[in-house]
Amino acid sequence: MPTCKECKHITPSPTGDPSKGICIQARTKLPDSQKTSTAIKGKMISKSSDICEFFEKGESWKDIRELI
Ligand code: SF4
Repeated sequence: MPTCKECKHITPSPTGDPSKGICIQARTKLPDSQKTSTAIKGKMISKSSDICEFFEKGESWKDIRELI
């Protein structure tokens, strides 16, 4: 069973805790017309959490500059 750790929507936690991450799935689903980033909510999750319906395998956080 995959966990959030394997999902492309997770980014490293700003707290530096390696067991945690920020899920930015809400950000990646914003419409193209949305220019601001202020309304985007990231949620702190544990990397070992069970996946949700938005799970996509990958490591897109390594290309975080493309998302900002
Ligand atoms: S599985 Fe769901 S909660 Fe976990 S990182 Fe991916 S989108 Fe976020």
